[in-house]
Amino acid sequence: MNKPSPQAHKADILVVDDTPENLRVLSHMLSHYGYKVRAVTEGALAVTIAQTAPPDLIMLDVNMPGMDGYETCQQLKADERTRSIPVIFISALGEVEDKVKAFAVGGVDYVTKPFQIEEVLARLETHLSIRRLQIELEQKNQRLAAGLAELSESRAAEREQRILAETLRDTIAAINSTLNFNEVLTLILNNLARVVPHDAANIALIDEHGILHIRESRGYKERGVAELIASLSLPLNHFPTWRKIAETRAPIAISDTRLTPDWVEIPEMSWVRSTAAAPIISQGKIIGLLNLDSATPGFFKSEHAERLQTFSNYAAVAIEKARLFERTQQLAIMDELTGLYNRRQILHLAKSEYERARRYHRTLSVIMIDIDQFKHINDTYGHPVGDRILQALATCCRANLRSVDLIGRYGGEEFLVLMPETNMEKALEVAERIRRNVEAIHLPTPKGPAQITISLGVATLAVGSDVSLDQLIINADDALYMAKAAGRNRVQSYQK
Ligand code: GH3
Ligand code: MG
Ligand code: MG
Repeated sequence: MNKPSPQAHKADILVVDDTPENLRVLSHMLSHYGYKVRAVTEGALAVTIAQTAPPDLIMLDVNMPGMDGYETCQQLKADERTRSIPVIFISALGEVEDKVKAFAVGGVDYVTKPFQIEEVLARLETHLSIRRLQIELEQKNQRLAAGLAELSESRAAEREQRILAETLRDTIAAINSTLNFNEVLTLILNNLARVVPHDAANIALIDEHGILHIRESRGYKERGVAELIASLSLPLNHFPTWRKIAETRAPIAISDTRLTPDWVEIPEMSWVRSTAAAPIISQGKIIGLLNLDSATPGFFKSEHAERLQTFSNYAAVAIEKARLFERTQQLAIMDELTGLYNRRQILHLAKSEYERARRYHRTLSVIMIDIDQFKHINDTYGHPVGDRILQALATCCRANLRSVDLIGRYGGEEFLVLMPETNMEKALEVAERIRRNVEAIHLPTPKGPAQITISLGVATLAVGSDVSLDQLIINADDALYMAKAAGRNRVQSYQK
């Protein structure tokens, strides 16, 4: 965590919460760490205060009587004077939908009650530094714009500066126009061409093992290497040029790759004669590289690298924001342990599958799966092994299903499978295959290999049937109960 030192930070925080106790706790905590804190209990008042004396950051409670946090945020984002103040939402623990909406109305982040001091401070500092960076760049732009008026030298230089300033401004606009991760990457490369010319460009992100994956690229198709580029996994350690960027966090321009002794040439990419790259740094960590390639020797110079770095700082803000949003959205629909859909999401998807089957007169099969004697497994091997078994079961189920089938964690150790356009006979086959494959799993544990069996109940919506979705699931559950009663480790179809 980047712990703020009391002297260094006098950032001005506006805290908005209708609960006096929350206000007191947060204000006290933030003052203690050297922040200047103003506290209000109403959204409308917060907007007025922010307009007249803008704070550096606003922490905003979601649930407030009268104007709630979302509406307050929308008003702040609609006003030129308050638009760029970062807003961090405060929501009760676990209300993931709230969090998704928080981003949608223009929030940059959220913290949950009860407060984890470290987390609140870390998030606060992240967004304060992003804000500082933005202000710095805005000022740089203003200086550039001001400087332009006096510039009577070369028209080309003048034009270049103006384009840079405009592009950086557009990039900020792009940052706020979408939260879709891939779209953000596309927008970054679209804008990049106007800042530094190049033949080809790519954004490579570094995974937790230090391997670069190219996530978005331009200009490689013309060289016949677009697919190659997308499939490359490049360990940073094998490429001294990129490793150096990661270590120094400074951009690089290589005038001529053939005159650079430690340049590692990828055979299909030997046309690259000049290259420039800048680190993408987010929350103090290198998360990727912005790479430019040219077929012309001597093309890139150090000023390109510098400009690329300025641009990359903007890109980092956009990428981080989209990543946060993506992660939050994932959390809202996925079960963290198994990676399957969570109960709410699988039921949501079940509803559309059910409606589709009814509308187009198709069959739909439902399988309910429950681990046999799982309490006993937990007691024997311990809960952590139980968790790994749930993960292994999820993997096994998915491996035996088609891509159109849907599976979610319905309860603790109960999975629900939906199979569109599948009749009872076919569903029973699949269920039986899953049962056999699960039986064959031997999960290594300190107490020897753990084995499990499962019971499965299958129900089918026949063509023209008017059984409701709820009833269909109850039927699968009834069949499961019969499988249990008949001795477990078996598949049972629902019989009326
Ligand atoms: P049965 O064959 O009748 O299904 O017996 P069972 O022991 O599996 O009975 P039941 O389905 O009622 O037990 C569910 C058990 O699953 C209880 C709970 O400890 C365990 N469980 C639920 N969620 C989790 C989890 O996330 N991790 C682990 N390790 N165990 C879980
Ligand atoms: Mg069970
Ligand atoms: Mg159960």
